[in-house]
Amino acid sequence: MERTALRRRLTWQVGTVTEIRQETATARTLVVDVPDWPGHLAGQHLDVRLTAPDGYRASRSYSLASAWTGETIELTVEEVPDGEVSPYLVEVLKVGDPLEVRGPVGGWFVWRPEQAGPIQLIAGGSGVVPLMAILRAHAAAGGTPPAKLLYSVRRPTSVIYLSDLKEIAASDDVEVTFAYTREAPPGEPRVGRVDADLLDAITFTPKDEPTTYVCGPTPFVEAVADLLVAAGHDPARVKTERFGPTGGPR
Ligand SMILES: Cc1cc2nc3c(=O)[nH]c(=O)nc-3n(C[C@H](O)[C@H](O)[C@H](O)COP(=O)(O)OP(=O)(O)OC[C@H]3O[C@@H](n4cnc5c(N)ncnc54)[C@H](O)[C@@H]3O)c2cc1C
Repeated sequence: MERTALRRRLTWQVGTVTEIRQETATARTLVVDVPDWPGHLAGQHLDVRLTAPDGYRASRSYSLASAWTGETIELTVEEVPDGEVSPYLVEVLKVGDPLEVRGPVGGWFVWRPEQAGPIQLIAGGSGVVPLMAILRAHAAAGGTPPAKLLYSVRRPTSVIYLSDLKEIAASDDVEVTFAYTREAPPGEPRVGRVDADLLDAITFTPKDEPTTYVCGPTPFVEAVADLLVAAGHDPARVKTERFGPTGGPR
């Protein structure tokens, strides 16, 4: 690996928030200009570090929501009530503020346009963030190979990237299915967790040899990965990213 790129990855850099988009009542997207950002692959994440006036520091991991276009990076943060870092990012940070980041991080949970075979994406809650980066990279690569997204959310108002996902679904390049766990929109009879029947009905089959990306809270990821393997999917093609607690004071 080139030394300069590696040093940039391991060094904290100060970016500037250039735009903020409210995605839901509890999640927003931060567009950040990081002058020395080395670029990233769809699916990677970074670390964010906050420093209090008394010098106390806390860092957390956040997925990159955008495919790299050579300009800004995007993060989407869902507020965890009583959390140390996410409430600041969702409620306090404003356009023009500095934001300290380090990355990109991760080489396994990534999609590259030259990768062969269908893409199956399965998200629980804010786990949709790195999968959105994959969908954006997939669109930039011309919408091939075939791709499907299964997105489990509590209720319709919890859907992050609703307008982008509607647009992607309308393009016919990607099949998008929502699974509602608490409350479904009118006309949608199913309310419940992702289970074997749902996976069987709407995902690629093991015969299609998809690469599957599962991301969300740890229990969701583990349950879905187990179901996929039990259904005959090759574990080596089931990639997982767990959004459990990260970081801590640093
Ligand atoms: C690789 C990776 C990528 C991630 N990407 C994203 C992302 O794109 N967007 C995003 O919003 N989050 C993401 N996360 C989660 C994020 O790193 C933080 O854990 C989250 O923002 C909570 O941090 P906090 O400081 O607000 O809460 P903390 O102060 O760390 O925790 C407060 C309380 O909430 C619990 N908790 C912590 N994290 C979670 C969680 N994720 N879900 C439910 N309860 C939790 C803790 O156990 C604790 O009880 C990612 C995590 C990982 C490991």
